[in-house]
Amino acid sequence: MPSKKDYYEILGVSRSASVDEIKKAYRKLALQFHPDKNKGSGAEEKFKEISEAYAALSDEKKRKIYDQYGHSGFDARFSQEDIFRGANFEDIFSSMGMDSDSFGDSIFGNIFGSMFSGARRRERGSDLGVEVDITLLEAYKGISKAISLSRTESCAECGGNGAAKGSKLKKCQTCNGRGQVQRIASLGGFGRFSSIAPCNECRASGKIPEKTCPKCNGAGMVQRQEKIEVQIPAGIHDGARLRLEGLGDYSAGGYGDLYVIVNIKRDSRFRRDGDDLYTDASISFATAAMGGKISVPILEGDVEVKVPAGTQPHTSLRLKGEGMPSLHGGGKGSLYVRIIVQVPQKLTQKQKELLQEFEGKEGKKGWFCL
Ligand SMILES: [Zn+2]
Ligand SMILES: [Zn+2]
Repeated sequence: MPSKKDYYEILGVSRSASVDEIKKAYRKLALQFHPDKNKGSGAEEKFKEISEAYAALSDEKKRKIYDQYGHSGFDARFSQEDIFRGANFEDIFSSMGMDSDSFGDSIFGNIFGSMFSGARRRERGSDLGVEVDITLLEAYKGISKAISLSRTESCAECGGNGAAKGSKLKKCQTCNGRGQVQRIASLGGFGRFSSIAPCNECRASGKIPEKTCPKCNGAGMVQRQEKIEVQIPAGIHDGARLRLEGLGDYSAGGYGDLYVIVNIKRDSRFRRDGDDLYTDASISFATAAMGGKISVPILEGDVEVKVPAGTQPHTSLRLKGEGMPSLHGGGKGSLYVRIIVQVPQKLTQKQKELLQEFEGKEGKKGWFCL
């Protein structure tokens, strides 16, 4: 899929824009790119683009998901049809005061028709998304996490066709057995257009049972609370998305997928960059000068690290293989230990004398100036 342009950029608004500002921006662009006024100038594509951006950002829930996960996470959750579902265009178009009834078969009508008719016959169920929080140690070792979620499943009683046991299926009267219906939608000032949509009555199957299944009331599916074990591989990165095929919602066309988004909790001891970890270790002024051994935290405990004599402040010591495991196999990253040298803030008379002696400048102030 070609990478999509940022929705905010498309509408020319800031990421903190209010709903009103988004509406205003869309209204202005819609007037400018109204396809019936800009025939053959690429306005059609542009109009689709701004309408999609508006549909996404004018819905508080969708906008939140877009802000958090960007296009990739957003597109994984919403089909084109989902994006437009629930968006209120009517309100906007009627407030634009365009002359009505101009349209019937206009390009504009066709565009909207084609956007909504992403509704193919017998769509599969929607994809679901859940987030799990794990610790850095769990990301280091890999872990199996149990998540509970509510998802729709094919009804076991009727096998998904919605018919009671022994009941026959008959032709759906609403769609005359075709599984789809023509819908006329009104778009305020823009008039009306028609589109083809799946028949809701028979769930696009063209048939309805004579007697409905008592367990699912003829829906062919039931909602179930479920526990699913998710294997999170060692070395996983914060914000990674795991796709579990077929564990989304059920619909007549099959099961959608489940996306698990892995959030790694902050660990106050470490910063992470790729597979490398970074930490700070404070040592005394004397250890820095004379060298010594210090204890440094690693993910599974502590290790003893030798500090060479004459270590300068902010030197980084590299501990190979003490970083995070590579997600693709093949070893581990490094742990970088930044040395913080602590300069004493209070000295006894004795210590002062010793330092003065060390400095060879008895009584003179400003020893630590470089
Ligand atoms: Zn029907
Ligand atoms: Zn059933």
